[in-house]
Amino acid sequence: MKLLLALYFFILAIIQMGLLFGIYHYYRSQNTVRPNVYWLTSLATSAFALAIFGGGIVVIDDISRPEFNFTIGNTLFYVAAVLQALFCQSLNREVGRRVRLTLGISVFLFLLIFECLRNHSTFEIRTAFMCVLAGLFYVWQILEIRIKRKSLPSNQLIYLQYASSAELFFAIGRLAIILFGAMSIKQVEQIPQILILFTIAQLIMNTLSYIAIGSYWAEQIAFSGFKSSQENQEIRGLLKERETLIASLLKANKTASTGALSAAIAHELNQPLGASSLNIQFLQKKLADGQLNPVLEKEILDTLLSDNQRAAEIIRSLRSIFSDEKVGASQIDLAGLIDTVLNIAKPEIVAKSIQIALSVEPQLMIQANRGEIQQVLLNLINNAIQALVTSTHAVKRLTIEARHIEGGVLLTVADNGDGIPEASQKHLFELLSSTKSSGMGLGLWLCSHIITRHGGSIAFEPNTGGGAKFIVKLPEVVES
Ligand code: ADP
Repeated sequence: MKLLLALYFFILAIIQMGLLFGIYHYYRSQNTVRPNVYWLTSLATSAFALAIFGGGIVVIDDISRPEFNFTIGNTLFYVAAVLQALFCQSLNREVGRRVRLTLGISVFLFLLIFECLRNHSTFEIRTAFMCVLAGLFYVWQILEIRIKRKSLPSNQLIYLQYASSAELFFAIGRLAIILFGAMSIKQVEQIPQILILFTIAQLIMNTLSYIAIGSYWAEQIAFSGFKSSQENQEIRGLLKERETLIASLLKANKTASTGALSAAIAHELNQPLGASSLNIQFLQKKLADGQLNPVLEKEILDTLLSDNQRAAEIIRSLRSIFSDEKVGASQIDLAGLIDTVLNIAKPEIVAKSIQIALSVEPQLMIQANRGEIQQVLLNLINNAIQALVTSTHAVKRLTIEARHIEGGVLLTVADNGDGIPEASQKHLFELLSSTKSSGMGLGLWLCSHIITRHGGSIAFEPNTGGGAKFIVKLPEVVES
């Protein structure tokens, strides 16, 4: 009988230990939801208490006067019950320091009281005492689970509530058996079968409640996995949307920043086209009058050809800026690119009497999207032109430098305009930060976006001698 009873305790201890290790490894293999410390320590304590109890039953002689290990076993049961109730509370709100301290002190009080009961009272009184205490913790547990279930419907919490209710039922049952049984038990063999049955049933329900909590956490882990994959999808969607938005902004900026320049270019195109038209009329007249000689003919044709080439060059430069083709990164020569952009800006530069100081090293190869870098350069040059137009300096100068630096190339666009006030400098590269009445505050933000995307950097610094200076660094071409 003694051995059989001890065996029950050992089996339950092994089951709880298995549960503890299984769950612990499961938690360690994933990192989304952390294990609840109250529950894990409660489970470990409970398994330990069962083992001590089992061992105690094997060696016990007089059950009315058990050994000290029963005080240890029962105190551990009390600790496990406290921790399990704290776990249930932590589902709804944080466990305060005061609660923890009070319960911590209660453990010592329990130990003292139980030790007193072990020496001076009977098996029945100790059992009744344990049943009342356990019952109180079960009620606390059930109330907390009920609150949690209102905000989080979970099957596992329902099972936990059932298991806790069953624990409460068997604890009350044991108490009733003791109170109405009028027993005087001194040997294990004298314990009534029904009391043993209720005790084992209560312990089994206790093990089931630990399993339910384990399943509840597994449910939370699965749920958080589902949620994070859903969030990932949402983030991917948002990133896609961001890319589309930036592409639209690039397009809008193209139109905005090249608007003024293209108007000037259209004006410039009129010149070669008008000259060509006059030369053709002159040629027709000479032909009709029969006055065309080979020298004059060559002179007119040469002028026509050069005007034609000039117009074609302007159109070519513009087309490369306005083309919507998606060009990937390619090896580009920075000097050629600067030349193209200056060609577009030239009419405006000439019209506003701006001097250009150009210092570009040869063989400056970068791996980049040609259209995008062109747009950056055009934005910087356009901003400089606008700053110079409003400046009162007699000599307006635009300085463009490009040279090799360690690990890449350095490109600077500087002007001797009025510069940028210190207060605006901090927000220069932010979206919609503009001081111009017609400005969109898009250009520098896009420049920064494009350059960062190319693995480079862009910065502002006041130009020596006044004005603004923008410094772009781009990584060099990696030889493959
Ligand atoms: P926008 O030109 O549409 O205002 P940007 O992003 O290109 O937008 O420029 C933001 C602001 O930075 C401008 O409004 C202007 O005040 C200032 N800025 C940019 N470049 C220069 C420059 N070279 N000189 C003076 N101010 C500049």
